[in-house]
Amino acid sequence: MSKMDVVINRARLSLIQGDITRQTTDAIVNAANSSLMGGGGVDGAIHRAGGPAILEECKQIVSNQGRLPTGKAVITTGGNLRAKYVIHTVGPVWHGGHSGEPELVASAYRESLKLAVSKGIASISFPSISTGAYGYPVEQAAEVALQTVIDFLHQETALNEVVFVLFDGRTHGIYGKTLERIISKDAPTG
Ligand code: ADP
Repeated sequence: MSKMDVVINRARLSLIQGDITRQTTDAIVNAANSSLMGGGGVDGAIHRAGGPAILEECKQIVSNQGRLPTGKAVITTGGNLRAKYVIHTVGPVWHGGHSGEPELVASAYRESLKLAVSKGIASISFPSISTGAYGYPVEQAAEVALQTVIDFLHQETALNEVVFVLFDGRTHGIYGKTLERIISKDAPTG
């Protein structure tokens, strides 16, 4: 299964395997670090594909408001990307799960979604925040990521599309199983 789609309230929630820099949603989300100066993984890929304008805007943001705390989000233009905006958020580094990691990764998704809505953005793509260099176990991250997005879509109808763009097959598979489980649990019975 390469694509999975469900409808949550007014929006479509999709899981695909692919490269987030190629997405055509209004915004893509960057799993950045607090310096906003770029890095490896998806952050490096977004800055490489988007060009130097994004880094310039990030520098401006840091000089105005300082480093971006974990769980918060800021927005820049998309530079050369097809997406019009990049929302930069910072997920937690995994320290075993008892240092607020679930709340912080939920916050990274929620703050990104809130910022998108406040900018009139209707479609947004997310990577799997924190599950690369930051070491968050994918099963646990997927559960929080999907449940947070689903809860948000139940409350907020301005978004019409949320896409999880999972880079590797293993991550894509885990998100798919997790979404199936959440949906079947939430489905009305009787
Ligand atoms: P973090 O520091 O938050 O863990 P990483 O970028 O190291 O962020 O990893 C987060 C996830 O993003 C990982 O699953 C990684 O494989 C994935 N990733 C890397 N490059 C891309 C890309 N171009 N598009 C989508 N996901 C990507």
